[in-house]
Amino acid sequence: MTLFPDLVEMVLGYSIIGRAREKGSLDIRTYDIRAYSKDKHRRVDDTPYGGGMGMLMQAPPVYDCFLDITKDLGESEKCKVVYMSPRGRVLTQKKAAELAKFDRLVILCGHYEGVDQRAIDKIGAEEISVGDYVLTGGEIPACILADCVGRLCDGVLSDPECFENESLSEGLLEYPQYTRPYDFLGDKVPDVLVNGDHAKIEKWRLEKSLEITKKNRPDLL
Ligand code: SAM
Repeated sequence: MTLFPDLVEMVLGYSIIGRAREKGSLDIRTYDIRAYSKDKHRRVDDTPYGGGMGMLMQAPPVYDCFLDITKDLGESEKCKVVYMSPRGRVLTQKKAAELAKFDRLVILCGHYEGVDQRAIDKIGAEEISVGDYVLTGGEIPACILADCVGRLCDGVLSDPECFENESLSEGLLEYPQYTRPYDFLGDKVPDVLVNGDHAKIEKWRLEKSLEITKKNRPDLL
């Protein structure tokens, strides 16, 4: 649910997510909240009660949009509603994995100074942030969430191993990776990766993961 569906479509129309949508592994739809405005000028925002800076998105168009999206929801279908918001808990890989288990994810993108609290409450949204900073709108955060959750869904990546071994999935950051050429400007690929001893490779990768995690994100250890 967004005021800028084209922005979301553009971001989620390419590469792995775009291809997953084409082949039907993911079904991502954008809904223009403005289309649900009953105002003759299709306004969707107004000034906040109690005063203060900026405009707020009004509750009725958001709520009507939500009812439209969920009107065909089957009784056994598991649906989760999220409002992208800097007030929410910060998105983690663990949270993404939890969200990937739902059949349907409805994401509300705020704009201006945010959304009338009653809309957030009535649609039963959990607030999720993409980080401790404030953006102008929820579209980029929604694309981050859709990309991160989408790649965990069946049939999107070629092999589940693609995400089992990567940064954060095991609570550690990923080890350094190399591909051809073997020699790049005098820097050669570490010997351990070319000697074919898989036990040694695993040990080296774990050591490097620990080293990088200790340096960049000691809080994860
Ligand atoms: N007045 C709001 C506050 O202080 O919490 C900030 C509103 S922000 C300018 C406009 C919209 O951008 C929000 O409604 C939200 O949808 C989105 N947004 C901004 N920063 C975000 C973040 N870190 N994570 C997720 N969404 C964010």
